[in-house]
This record gives sequence, C-alpha cells and structure tokens, in this order.
Amino acid sequence: MCLNFSFRLSPFSMTFLLSRSLISLTLVRPSCSISMANPTMNAKARLRGVVFDMDGTLTVPVIDFGAMYRAVLGEDAYKRIKAESPTGIDILHHIESWSPDKQQKAYEIIADYEKQGIDKLQIMPGAAELCGFLDSKKIKRGLITRNVQKAIDIFHQRYEVIFSPALGREFRPYKPNPDPLLHICSTWGIQPNEVMMVGDSLKDDIACGKRAGAFTCLLDETGRYGPDDFSVSGLQPDFKVDSLSKIQNILETNFDLNP
Ligand SMILES: [Mg+2]
Repeated sequence: MCLNFSFRLSPFSMTFLLSRSLISLTLVRPSCSISMANPTMNAKARLRGVVFDMDGTLTVPVIDFGAMYRAVLGEDAYKRIKAESPTGIDILHHIESWSPDKQQKAYEIIADYEKQGIDKLQIMPGAAELCGFLDSKKIKRGLITRNVQKAIDIFHQRYEVIFSPALGREFRPYKPNPDPLLHICSTWGIQPNEVMMVGDSLKDDIACGKRAGAFTCLLDETGRYGPDDFSVSGLQPDFKVDSLSKIQNILETNFDLNP
C-alpha cells in the first residue's frame, strides 16, 4: 500500500502537517501519495507523552540570543560563525573546546543573560491550557532545555505547572543530541515513537526529536522558518504551529491519545 500525503496548506493557518504518516513512519513510502483527506485510510498513531523545550516554547522568549552570542564570541567571530551556521549558532558547542579560563568567562556571560531571562520569565500563552488538556487525557509531560536546572525550578515554582522528568543542560549530552529525550522515554517506559517533541528551535528541538525517533512539532510564532530551512538542514518537522494553542487540535485530530 502506498502511503504518503499531499499537503493542504491553508493560507489562513500556520498549522499544518508537514510530512509524517498518521499510521507509522515505517509505512510511509515517499514515491507514492494519498491525500490526508481520506480518514478511512488512516489508523491514528498512539501518543503517550509530550516533551517540551522551555525557552521560547513554554516561556515567552526574552533572552536576546544574538546579543549573548556577540558578547561571548566577539563581533568578528560572531559574524563568521553565523555565516557558517545557517540554522543558528550552537554557543554551548563552541565553548566546549575553549580553555577553562575562557570557558568560565563565557559561562558567566551566558548566565548573566539567562538571569535576565529568568527575571522577565513569562509563561507562553496557551501553555497552561495545553498542559491541562494533556493532563485530562493522562498524557505525560516532560521538559528538556539547554538552560540550567535552576531556571526550570523557577519556572515550576512560578507557574505551578510541573514537568517530569525536566532536564537542564546539566544532563549531558544536551540537545540536539537525542539522549535527554531517550532518557525521558526510558524513564516513562514509553517508546520514542509514542512521544512528541515540541520546541521553537529547528536545530536543537526538532533535531533532538527526530534523532530520537519521536514525532516533532515546531513552534514558529513569527514565521522565521520556511521550506528552505527544512531542506538545507535536513530537518523536517512533522508539524508546525504558530501558537501552542494549535497543538490540542493537532493531537486530537492526528493521534490516538491513549496513555
Ligand atoms: Mg527554545
């Protein structure tokens, strides 16, 4: 059976299925197509857990990452590395090869920017409602961030929406490595293909989710990502939304929400 999908992209909605079969990835063959419009052909994939990124996904983005990278790398190196990194700079990766002294200073600069982020921390619109929906369906909720554990603790305390497990960058290797997501799946006793990774970074969140074998949903509030970004990076998210409030409908429409 040929299973693939032609996309029906509404110009009035940023919410769309990008690539994945609703049945199973193993059944998708890219050489043939069938419209998603035929629901009788689709057995819904089971979904038992959702793992979220924190900064820019569960919280409103307030950290000026461009300014942070400039401060850490210096203007010249920033421009060069930015030009060489079309999907974005991995600042933690760059720092890892530096001398301990230089690395320490860089971490201090990053911590300073992150502290400013914590001070201005706000929960993302739609996050609490989405978590309430997941709880009503008994779908597990986890969190993976490249920020520090302390920032997760503050988020938990301030908004009383608890994610478990919730891994900061103290868990090595961090995103985009799939290990933190695989660790959460293992802790839950759930297969990665029964989990969705949701995040606002193509190179970190979507890469982590895809490498782990999970479903992926890119949160792109401002339309910063387009098809070229997906093809250049080789990272095609399964879903893309411009608001967390769109995710409930995606889950209800496309998945068997069966814990
Ligand atoms: Mg993020």
